[in-house]
Amino acid sequence: MPELPEVETVRRTLEPLLKGRAITEARVLHPSVVRGPEVHEFSSLLPEKKVIALERRGKYLLWSLSEGYTLIWHLGMTGRLLWVERPEGALEPHTHVIITFSNGGQVRFVDVRRFGRCYLGHTEEVLREVGVKDLGVEPLSPEFTVERLAQMTRSTKRRIKEVLMDQHCIAGLGNIYSDEALFQAGLHPLRPASSLSEEEIERLHRAIRGVLEAGISHGGTSFRDYVNGLGQRGNHQDYLAVYGKKGEPCPRCGKAIETLKVGGRTSYFCSRCQV
Ligand SMILES: [Zn+2]
Repeated sequence: MPELPEVETVRRTLEPLLKGRAITEARVLHPSVVRGPEVHEFSSLLPEKKVIALERRGKYLLWSLSEGYTLIWHLGMTGRLLWVERPEGALEPHTHVIITFSNGGQVRFVDVRRFGRCYLGHTEEVLREVGVKDLGVEPLSPEFTVERLAQMTRSTKRRIKEVLMDQHCIAGLGNIYSDEALFQAGLHPLRPASSLSEEEIERLHRAIRGVLEAGISHGGTSFRDYVNGLGQRGNHQDYLAVYGKKGEPCPRCGKAIETLKVGGRTSYFCSRCQV
């Protein structure tokens, strides 16, 4: 599933192509992807709106549009937002939404599993409805301090992995980057969050920032589906230490990587390096 580095990479690849461009047409081929408003309204509201900026909050991509509107995308498990410079020939299977711009280019939303979705509305309203306003701190922003992370861990009975995955605590961390951050910090995914020492919290803070920045610098992690706005795969899968590596040797100590379930998700970790 795309996490912060993947969505940020999509944002960075699409923004220069869309910024300042006017939308001329919005075609919805699969209505369930458009969560609001009704499809006919969605298709009639978008034409003539201009893209002012592309922003990101957590795993959400926000297209800030003229007239005070915002179009919000969530890529779900397998969603792709693809720029098509010269639309011709047959559509790729699983194309659900096509947005055409004044220069003839298109952004196509393609999603095999169809957990991806979009929402359009007046900015304030749609951000509230979708829950973007309730998201936790952006981990690469100055607001994400060691003290802020310490506050999240202090007053909870949850395991550290669960805290990291909670979008209301830290926005944008998912299974891949939380496993990688816990490995880099030497922390076991089942550690009660409240048991972390000051030094461990500092280590974890540094590790979260580090793995996300590395993920962005490698253009995201592409196991299967993820590609950026130009259809290119990321490279960060070549740099992962533990995620997806059950049975392979730990890059630090050589012991086989193990898995366990936390909150229904598989966690990858080294039982010798992470305590
Ligand atoms: Zn190890």
